[in-house]
Amino acid sequence: MKLRFTVVTSALIAATLGLASPSTRMFAQAPAARAAAAAQKIDEEYTRLIKQNLQDSRISTELVDHLPASDTVPSPLKFLGRAVGTPGELTYAKDIHRYYAALAQAAPRRARYMKIGTSEEGRDIVALAIANETTMAALDRYKEMLGSLTDPRRTTDAQAKQLMAQAKPIYYITSGMHSPETGGPEMLIELAYRLIVEETPFIQAIRDNVITLITPVVEVDGREKQVDTYYYNKKRAPGDARLPLMYWGKYVQHDNNRDGMGQLLELTKAVTRVTLDWHPTILHDLHEAQTYLYTSTGTGPYNDSLDPITVSEWWTLAENDVLEMTKRGVPGVWTYGYYDGWVPNYMIFIAHSHNAVGRFYEVQSYGPDNGEVRPGANVLSKEWYRPNPPLSYIRWGPRNNTNIQESAILFSLNHVARNRETYLDNYWMKNKRSVDKGKNGPTFAWLIPAGQRRKADAAMAVNDLRRQGLEISKATSSFKAGTLDVRAGDYIVRGDQPFRTLADMYFSIQNYAPQNPAPYDDTGWTFQLMRDLRIVPVTDKTVLDQPMTMVTADVKATGGIEGTGNVLVVEHTADTSLITFRFRNAAVKMQAAEADFDAGGHHFRAGSIVIADADRARLEPMLRDMGLSAWALSQVPEVRVHDLDVPRIGYIHNWSRTQDEGWWRAALDVYGVPYTYFADQKLKEGNLRQKYDVLIFPHVGGTALSQVNGSPVTGSAPLPYRKSADTPNLGVLDSSDDIRGGMGFDGLAELVKFVEQGGTLITEGSTATIFPEYGLTTDVTLEQPAQLFVRGSVLRSRVADPSSPIMYGYTGSELPVYFNQSPVLNAGGGAGRGGGGGAAPSGPNAGLGQSITPNATPLRISPYLPEDETAPVSDARPSADDIAQVRQLAQGDVGRGNAGGRGGAPPAGRGNAGGGGRGAAPAGRGVPPAAAGAGGAGGRGGATVPRTRLVLQFPNDPNQMLLSGTLANGQFLAGRAAVVDSRVGQGHVVMFAIRPFWRWQTQGTYTLGFNSIMNWNDLDARGN
Ligand SMILES: [Zn+2]
Repeated sequence: MKLRFTVVTSALIAATLGLASPSTRMFAQAPAARAAAAAQKIDEEYTRLIKQNLQDSRISTELVDHLPASDTVPSPLKFLGRAVGTPGELTYAKDIHRYYAALAQAAPRRARYMKIGTSEEGRDIVALAIANETTMAALDRYKEMLGSLTDPRRTTDAQAKQLMAQAKPIYYITSGMHSPETGGPEMLIELAYRLIVEETPFIQAIRDNVITLITPVVEVDGREKQVDTYYYNKKRAPGDARLPLMYWGKYVQHDNNRDGMGQLLELTKAVTRVTLDWHPTILHDLHEAQTYLYTSTGTGPYNDSLDPITVSEWWTLAENDVLEMTKRGVPGVWTYGYYDGWVPNYMIFIAHSHNAVGRFYEVQSYGPDNGEVRPGANVLSKEWYRPNPPLSYIRWGPRNNTNIQESAILFSLNHVARNRETYLDNYWMKNKRSVDKGKNGPTFAWLIPAGQRRKADAAMAVNDLRRQGLEISKATSSFKAGTLDVRAGDYIVRGDQPFRTLADMYFSIQNYAPQNPAPYDDTGWTFQLMRDLRIVPVTDKTVLDQPMTMVTADVKATGGIEGTGNVLVVEHTADTSLITFRFRNAAVKMQAAEADFDAGGHHFRAGSIVIADADRARLEPMLRDMGLSAWALSQVPEVRVHDLDVPRIGYIHNWSRTQDEGWWRAALDVYGVPYTYFADQKLKEGNLRQKYDVLIFPHVGGTALSQVNGSPVTGSAPLPYRKSADTPNLGVLDSSDDIRGGMGFDGLAELVKFVEQGGTLITEGSTATIFPEYGLTTDVTLEQPAQLFVRGSVLRSRVADPSSPIMYGYTGSELPVYFNQSPVLNAGGGAGRGGGGGAAPSGPNAGLGQSITPNATPLRISPYLPEDETAPVSDARPSADDIAQVRQLAQGDVGRGNAGGRGGAPPAGRGNAGGGGRGAAPAGRGVPPAAAGAGGAGGRGGATVPRTRLVLQFPNDPNQMLLSGTLANGQFLAGRAAVVDSRVGQGHVVMFAIRPFWRWQTQGTYTLGFNSIMNWNDLDARGN
């Protein structure tokens, strides 16, 4: 690649910029600062500490081998009591913030300290702006200039040209997103001081031409926990278990960097607000998961909706880092590999969807303890993207980490300072091209019908998109756009707006060819599919001239009550707010219709809520507020109903991993569903059914076996997780005197008892494998097709059982679902088609979870762990002995006297007589055998068979499967279960192979989970 910039020495740059920069013509430059440059004193003590702490002299540049002294601005050493890069020490976010505030106080003409948000746990999220005196004095004007360059609809080319001569790019640096990656926030302590104080021409050029904005810690809650955890572990005796960083933020761990689209988290919202307010030209996020220093470009495939200018900017910025660092002999600064650049869920994509440029570093860990680095051969080779590779051995420490990333980011800042106009022009061009795209088509707008079936969620989507800066209009009268009928009140996303890039990114269909290198993350995310909404591209240009007004505040769907009468029927539309309505009125008796019906001249979908003797005055405002529609009738409709008993909900987590379970929790919190949160260890205490009606056990990761075993029991001392004088930031969500170990067999047995006694257990992803693998839901089997490749895609599912309460409110025979590779559950639905995995069982333990085709799942080579693979993945499966033990424990004191009785389930090792034989269905609702034709399930002899109800399944035809993302060998998923409901004893296990609550993006499937909760003790309902 040919580089577009010229390399000149720092002194020459400064000479050029200092005198001729347009900004100096516009605003008087402080000459005193210039004069001071030559005479600036060095902070001798700090500089000595830099040298002392550096583990290898090659990891240094002239930019960071010293620290300038200041009479007025406190150095990190003076303020915090130590130099950045001191081994064995970490700084709390609150102290970094105190320091930033002190910097702004000591140097108010060069720095401004701002609060930009509040975390879930109530901590401040902050930013510090740094620039020269004249820029800071007119900071709001500079913000405005970038605002004008953002919008070609109100800025002419001539004005833009003028602005480019005056405006300054904002270089926004963020860090502390991933709490165990500790060095970014530390380095930024020093960088801020240096940028404010240092008087070298190199730094002056940055201050004069760039506005540097720094958020040192975006995940403030996780940072404080990380620092607590580090110091706590230091005091543990050798050989004792070390405390892992349990929770970071309130809901997720490293997936806080997968929230760019969903935008649940406060940190994402804060950065989005900064983006919309300041229009940062560059967003640079600092991470630590690679060797020495990786500067982002990515292998591709790059996101299809990126402007080509952005892609070139990635490369220019990265090559500048590689060049400047390798020129100074610093080894191991490289680009290209490691990540792809495809999915827009990373925080840096907030920049991309707003036509700026996002980038990141992955630095060799800060530690903070000194150590050694011995990279593998695939990291050591000299390659075109790695001209000066890492060394086979190096002593590494926190000062190495500080030096390498502080140097590189200073070269980046200086590069942007030198190319100020280029980056402003790039930004302007991208905004212009974005608007032009809307004028030239083929997509001139997108239509979001306001009156669509899930109208409440459509309104919510409008609000969510608006919060991300997408302009949305409302049609003021009906019109036709091509073949589309637009009605007054419908929402229009105009294509001729700067941030249409966001609409392009979100509304497009992704096509990720599996021939590409392994995707780094999800491959499909199409907004309207994930949310089960109708959002239609408009290809008729006249739409732009139709009457519409801009939406300027949050919208609501039209809701309320039609008709008169004491009986209220709330229509079930699968809108997510329905569960809020139910739980906010927990004391009101509500019933669910078990079938579709007509009443009051309206057709109702099964699941519609019937309230006899309704208090209209109380309920109507609520329905209106939630955008839900109800009909008042004079008589109770003639349809079979069941009571919607409000369940007592328990929520299970596993101490070994708190990464993915938070998405369900977030939904319950947001939608107002109360629950009791506890660790799976407590399952052992038993009496679950006395306490709970529903247990939710979301995805943990790992195998059934590893989930039952929990975190390893290391050392002899207990490993507590709780708030204490030493760990004031831990123990917020949950505490334990000893987090080692998991539920164990005893806990699993209690879980089985809970279900057998009539409770409903909801499992998802990895936890959905536990019951099948332990042979507790024998007509559901787990398959592990090595050939299947489906990495975070949106797939078509087919409604196998529309009468299941889990499907209430959904219409049609299909539903888009998010699925990520596993688990592949066979509930017999794949019979006759691609049913290899469901081969007739034979031999001992058939149908009890033991694989009869072990070679079908090849040994997995232990992978190089990317940063999002914190939990070791194991292929281990429970042994037949384990299965037998759990079953015996579970049967110890339950199961007798249950309706239909388990009749004593056969012990492991037998019961497979008469393969395929299925006992009579339990009495009750006259349940026909679900999943007829099941080929895979082993018979249970004469015992009563747990009833399995396939609710949603993947299509039988693999060619029909992929909606957005990637897929190979879909035949291994054909007909398999997406959602399956198994009766065990008197209760139910609902198994979601899909991830209904994924990263706040899958609102279209939230109601599958909500229905399972609301209809927990009537999941057997089958319509009229
Ligand atoms: Zn990271």
